Amino acid sequence: MEKKEDMASISPVRLSYDSKFKFLCHKGVSCFTKCCRGINIILTPYDIILMKNRLGLSSEEFLAIYTEPHILEKTDLPVVTLKLLDDDRKSCPFVKDDGCIIYEDRPTTCRYYPLGVATLQHKEGADDKGFFFFVNEPHCRGFEEDREWTVSEWRRDQGVDTHDDINETWTDLVVRKRSFPPNVKLVEKAKQLFFMVSYNIDKFRAFVFESTFLERMDIDPDEVAKIKTDDVALLRFGVNWLTDVLFRKSNLEKSE
Ligand code: SF4
Ligand code: SF4
Repeated sequence: MEKKEDMASISPVRLSYDSKFKFLCHKGVSCFTKCCRGINIILTPYDIILMKNRLGLSSEEFLAIYTEPHILEKTDLPVVTLKLLDDDRKSCPFVKDDGCIIYEDRPTTCRYYPLGVATLQHKEGADDKGFFFFVNEPHCRGFEEDREWTVSEWRRDQGVDTHDDINETWTDLVVRKRSFPPNVKLVEKAKQLFFMVSYNIDKFRAFVFESTFLERMDIDPDEVAKIKTDDVALLRFGVNWLTDVLFRKSNLEKSE
C-alpha cells in the first residue's frame, strides 16, 4: 500500500464522513499482508508512543531501530517513517505470515487503510479537518467483500478517532507551518525542539524534569504530576507548548 501523508502529487476523489464503501480485510483474502510491504508510512507522535511502549523500548531506542528521518515536503519539518526490512519485498518489520504482530498498536495510517486522509492538504482556518480518499492499490481484494461502511463507521471501528484526537494539535502545527511562504524556515534549534516533542517523548520528559524548565513555567502541580508518568499527557502538554513558542520571531529565519 502506498501511504503518503503529503498528498501534493495526487488528486484524490474526496470522500466525506458519510461516504459509503464496501470493504473487508481478513485472513482469508488472497492478498493477505500484501499491503504491509513496500510501503511509506509517516509516523505520528501517538504512533511512536504506542509502539515503543508495546515493544518495551525507550523512544530513543524505537527511533534508532524502527524509523528513518525525513523532511516533510512543503513544511521543512523533520518527521520519521517506519523503516522497512532489507528483504526482497521491503516488508514492514512487524508483518508475519499470520498478520501484524502489533495489530492493537498499529500506526494511524495502517488503521485508515484502504482510506487515506488528506489532513496535510487541509488549509489553516478552514472549518473542516481535511478529507478522505481511497488508496486504491490493485492488489487489495478487500473491495470485493460485501461489508458496507461509511467513512465514520470505518474510522470508529479501526480506532482512528482516538488517534486523530490525540494527534490533532500536532497536525494543526504541521498545517500551520505548511501555510508559511517557502522562504520562511524554522531555525535549526526550533526544528530540534519540534522533533524532540513530536517523537522522542522520553527525551522531552528529561528536558522538562531535569532542567530549569518547570521553574520558568507556571504549571498546575496536578498537571506536573501527570506528565511525569503519562506519555500522552506529556505529548499534549508538549505540543501545546510548541504551539506557543515554535513560531516566535526568534525561531524563524527568512531567506531572500
Ligand atoms: S504496522 Fe502492522 S498493519 Fe502496519 S504495515 Fe506493519 S504489519 Fe502492516
Ligand atoms: S484486503 Fe487489502 S488491506 Fe486487507 S490484506 Fe489485502 S491488501 Fe491488505
